[in-house]
Parts: sequence; C-alpha cells; structure tokens
Amino acid sequence: MSEALGLKAKLGLDVFKEDKEFHIKIVAGREKDSRLKKAIVVCPAGLYSENENGEVVVSVDGCLECGTCLLACGEDLLEWHYPNGGSGVQFRFG
Ligand code: SF4
Repeated sequence: MSEALGLKAKLGLDVFKEDKEFHIKIVAGREKDSRLKKAIVVCPAGLYSENENGEVVVSVDGCLECGTCLLACGEDLLEWHYPNGGSGVQFRFG
C-alpha cells in the first residue's frame, strides 16, 4: 500500500514557469506598511518576508496564484495580476 503525499510533497510536484515580469508587486512606498505583514502569515507558499530594513518583500517564484495575499492586504498595498499566458504555476496534483 502506498503512503499519501503530504502538502509539501504535493506542492513539490508543481511546475513553475517564470514570467518576463513579476505578477505581484508591492505598491511603491508601502513596503513598511504594517498591514502587509498579513501576507507573511497567510501566503501558503511562504513567499513574503521582512528584510533587515523592516520592509516586506515578495518573491513570486513559486506563487500558487491563489490570491490570498491580495484578499488579506488589498489593492492599495499590492499590484496583483495573473502571470502572462504560458507562465506561472502548473498544478500536477489535483
Ligand atoms: Fe502567496 Fe497566493 Fe499571494 Fe501567490 S497569490 S504570493 S501563493 S498568497
């Protein structure tokens, strides 16, 4: 009998194709807005972090395109759109 895959193992099966531009950007001048810290908590892929200057940064490589960060932080803090066609995540497990 085979063992069920855990979440990390399932996500590891996904394929990510880099876009020529970032599909998520923090609105300029908002990097230190404390409301952005919600993205650090809610992003299931762990793509947000706080740097040594107290700014929230995002790395879009590995983005699941779930939109949770946009829902949590809003359009006044994030510029968010789906990656261009042929780019982004390809789910391999459901
Ligand atoms: Fe993380 Fe989802 Fe936002 Fe991508 S869309 S950065 S996976 S919360």
